[in-house]
Amino acid sequence: MSITEKAKEILANSGYKVTNQRKRILEIILDNTHRHMSAEEIYEIVKDENLDVGLATVYRALELFEELNIIHKMNFGDGRSRYELKEEDHHHHHLVCTSCNEVFEVDEDLLDQLEEKVEKKYKFRITGHHLKFLGICENCHEQQRLGD
Ligand SMILES: [Zn+2]
Ligand SMILES: [Zn+2]
Ligand SMILES: [Zn+2]
Repeated sequence: MSITEKAKEILANSGYKVTNQRKRILEIILDNTHRHMSAEEIYEIVKDENLDVGLATVYRALELFEELNIIHKMNFGDGRSRYELKEEDHHHHHLVCTSCNEVFEVDEDLLDQLEEKVEKKYKFRITGHHLKFLGICENCHEQQRLGD
């Protein structure tokens, strides 16, 4: 089953209608999931498509998708919430460039050992974690170097 179909099923099973607007907003997130779209960016796309979608509609749809665990919200410190599909089989972390605000993905999850240590030491059963690395990306680093 494709993710869109899965998402439609989740909506339907929860008693929500799969309106054209909701469907389109979901599609945009799916098409751009690695770009970590903000509500404003999604709105910029639907605005041009004559779908009669306002920014408030986008916010409401995103809230709903989040409630239903289809997407999750992230904050990279640039003042905007960003959204990404929840993929159980694709757990990843983020590198946030504090100079250009670009977000990069780290595919490996290197935290298993750390979790084990923490669980033992604090007798705490870990069910998940959030992690983002802040720093300077290769491009910005290069530009800073050239600027010297
Ligand atoms: Zn990501
Ligand atoms: Zn950068
Ligand atoms: Zn992880």
